[in-house]
Amino acid sequence: MGIIVQKFGGTSVASTEHIKNVARRVKMEVDKGNQVVVVVSAMSGSTDQLIKWVQQVSEVNSPQTQAECDVVVSSGEQVTSGLLALALNALGVPARSMQGWQARINTDMVYGKARIESIDTENLLKHLDQGDVVVVPGFQGITIDGRVTTLGRGGSDTSAVALAAALHADRCDIYTDVDGVYTTDPRIVPKARKLQKVGYEEMLEMASLGAKVLQTRSVEMAMKYGVRVQVLSSFSDEPGTLLVNEEEIVERRLITGIAYSRNDAQITLVGVENQPGVAADIFGPLSEAEINVDMIVQNISENGTRTDLTFTLSKSDLGRAVQLLEKAKDSLKYNSLISNEKVAKVSVIGVGMRSHAGLAQKMFKVLAEKGINILVISTSEIKISVLVDEEYLELGLRALHTAYDLDAQEEE
Ligand code: ADP
Ligand code: ASP
Ligand code: MG
Repeated sequence: MGIIVQKFGGTSVASTEHIKNVARRVKMEVDKGNQVVVVVSAMSGSTDQLIKWVQQVSEVNSPQTQAECDVVVSSGEQVTSGLLALALNALGVPARSMQGWQARINTDMVYGKARIESIDTENLLKHLDQGDVVVVPGFQGITIDGRVTTLGRGGSDTSAVALAAALHADRCDIYTDVDGVYTTDPRIVPKARKLQKVGYEEMLEMASLGAKVLQTRSVEMAMKYGVRVQVLSSFSDEPGTLLVNEEEIVERRLITGIAYSRNDAQITLVGVENQPGVAADIFGPLSEAEINVDMIVQNISENGTRTDLTFTLSKSDLGRAVQLLEKAKDSLKYNSLISNEKVAKVSVIGVGMRSHAGLAQKMFKVLAEKGINILVISTSEIKISVLVDEEYLELGLRALHTAYDLDAQEEE
């Protein structure tokens, strides 16, 4: 007998019929003699709806409004946790829900994107030991002064992995609408191949570069605490993908996967003075406003006195960043500002990059052959990212997938 954490995402609990199906899966785990904690997302689409309602009522962005926003947005998970406990009871499985505050999922006070700091498992373990399945709504936490928080989009994955770590669970099974982690998003590249195993480090890069199958923080946490995470489908019985340490992967490829993101935007400041301290003057105010800048490139003009500075940031921060930079135009002394939201970031990921040269060159060549212009490039030890016109995203992804030899074979 062990403790198993099962997490079901939005599409897996999209209707009451789906929830009954989930209850049957949970019962199978209980029937094997395991103690089970289930983490559920809100029904798919319901978090988006809740966010819309909040926006219709209030446009102010203060700590108070953010806290109330979390009260509303966290409620989608409350509904599914109660419904699943009811569906389990209807199958004769003793079960109870425990909301984030009841399960003592303690977070910091960054509403909308709170970080889990600790979990007091005493209460939860008490109910498990009494023979109940405990259903915990994902995405929810509580601050030290008792206010509800949410963990950022996709945060139920992190709730599940955090609970698995705190309970020293034997496994954390993440059930979703695809049957594992693929070499790239199988919804865009039909030839994507399922990975039997993926290293924590590579998964971390894939998630943070856009592969939304797992929230980035959930992977960070799994890596830190060595949680055995498995990604699998709630709609089939196919074996899923296991997150493992790099050494456990026998069949190594140079490139493991390709991620993409449509969440980035690009800003170019044209004609910035080319002198010491300019970059600090530009990026200082952005970082004070908690706007993260990702890729940066600087072109020196012909006479060397002026330069163009291009950088990327999250689309959701674009409006604020443009406002800030326009306000500071006189002191920053640039000629003009160009912003572009119609961009996408494509990233190739693989630990093989540490030891093999030429992998970046291949990316540039493949994109050039397809006539795709690269707007910005950034690299790190195990990934290369490029920014391209969003129109060419799918074409680029497919071409790169084939070029790096990632396509599934016909018989697979
Ligand atoms: P859930 O609601 O279960 O949390 P998500 O929609 O958050 O599910 O994540 C699953 C989706 O992630 C898939 O439907 C797929 O389109 C997308 N995805 C992106 N990259 C990958 C990848 N490399 N492997 C598998 N799925 C991926
Ligand atoms: N319901 C939340 C979201 O849609 C959390 C989650 O599903 O993981 O982002
Ligand atoms: Mg998700």
